[in-house]
Amino acid sequence: MRTLLILAMVSAASAQQYDLVLANGRVMDPASGVDAVRHIGVRAGKIAAVSASPLRGAQILDVKGLVVAPGFIDLHSHGQTPENYRFKARDGVTTALELEVGVSPVKPWYAEREGHAAINFGATVGHIPARMAVLHDSGTFLPRDKATGTATPDQQRQVLDLLRRGLEDGALGIGMGIAYVTEATRAEIFDVFRLGAERKVVLYVHMRNSGPVEPGAIDSLQEVIADAAGSGASLHIVHITSTCLREAPLCLEMIAGARSRNLDVTTEAYPYTAGMTDLSSAIFAEGWEKRTGGITYGDLQWALTGERLTAESFARYRKQGGMVAIHSIPEDVVRTAMSASQVMIASDGILQEGKGHPRAAGTYARVLGRYVREQHTMSLMDALRKMTVMPADRLGLKSKGRLAVGADADITVFDPALVTDRATFENPAQYSEGIPYVVVNGVVVVKNGETVEGALPGRGVHR
Ligand SMILES: [Zn+2]
Repeated sequence: MRTLLILAMVSAASAQQYDLVLANGRVMDPASGVDAVRHIGVRAGKIAAVSASPLRGAQILDVKGLVVAPGFIDLHSHGQTPENYRFKARDGVTTALELEVGVSPVKPWYAEREGHAAINFGATVGHIPARMAVLHDSGTFLPRDKATGTATPDQQRQVLDLLRRGLEDGALGIGMGIAYVTEATRAEIFDVFRLGAERKVVLYVHMRNSGPVEPGAIDSLQEVIADAAGSGASLHIVHITSTCLREAPLCLEMIAGARSRNLDVTTEAYPYTAGMTDLSSAIFAEGWEKRTGGITYGDLQWALTGERLTAESFARYRKQGGMVAIHSIPEDVVRTAMSASQVMIASDGILQEGKGHPRAAGTYARVLGRYVREQHTMSLMDALRKMTVMPADRLGLKSKGRLAVGADADITVFDPALVTDRATFENPAQYSEGIPYVVVNGVVVVKNGETVEGALPGRGVHR
């Protein structure tokens, strides 16, 4: 009897003991609306307590005066390497997903990363890589030649087969970049929407054209909204700012209108006035200046050196291929997107040996510092909603994007008075500041503002 009693007391005591406790922080959870001082207890990689009274833990981090938020979920992260995961973690991102371009095949992509990633990762199966494989394109990431052309009915069937296989292997939906496969017919695109509807997955789409000149953003938006309506598919439109440019307010109205008529359409934006893509891609075919809102060579910045282009260097680098920043998005368009309640935050970032667009390293801290603290473009809670529960819900992930008992212990702790991005177009490989702690699946990957070396708790996110 006595022994049993002692055993019961011991197990009750250990039940109150957590692996990790975040103590005294200002917990902000957009999913529940909680904004109060709370103590968070983590056990076995999950949130096990959100408590008004102090908790006991094997490891206790006092985060008094800091905001404790669900880890940020980036729906648009092309950078899927240890280098990129490191920068994402320092920007508060605990889950980085390649949803626009996607991957194919899916299985080896996940297998390569499992056990080797600091943060959670995942991908759609991509119409682009599937098409590049079937049409034997010579490009690596984006099409360069054959995959920009028309696909025969047989090739289209093969592409759809690859997409089906990817979904069976757990891909998070279907990625599409219609702008990169310029000769893909509207019928081919609609068939992909039909597959998405049939499998009840979301299509993450970079639309056919951009900018104010037809064929441009408006007619492209009409194409994908019509495809979503006609097929019943769920649609997520990527980077609404760089695609719609000055037409962004009208694009957002069209999306809100589609939503109010029960179409499942969502969108995202990054907090920068420049986009970036491969100079050798179809985006820069004849007439690109008008299509990007009336810019010229000097508005293009070669990522490798930071130099602004001329007609001569444009021609030379276009043959060579490589990333170029496109300074084409008006600042007020960025502000409009940041403040629109339906727009999620997503980076569209990739770094390669320290080169790329600063959005890869600074997107989330930039929203919190520049647009929330400095410009009051939106409230802090609204910004966090766009980074956490909104993307989680778009993915159908109930276990992420919220600070609730039972959720994955993906947590970001930042100082709202100090959080700021440092990455620039000239030097994008600079960590954000003011984010002292980041926890992924219960493991601390950023501590006292420094990377915890060797911490690789990230897991593949599957559908
Ligand atoms: Zn894109």
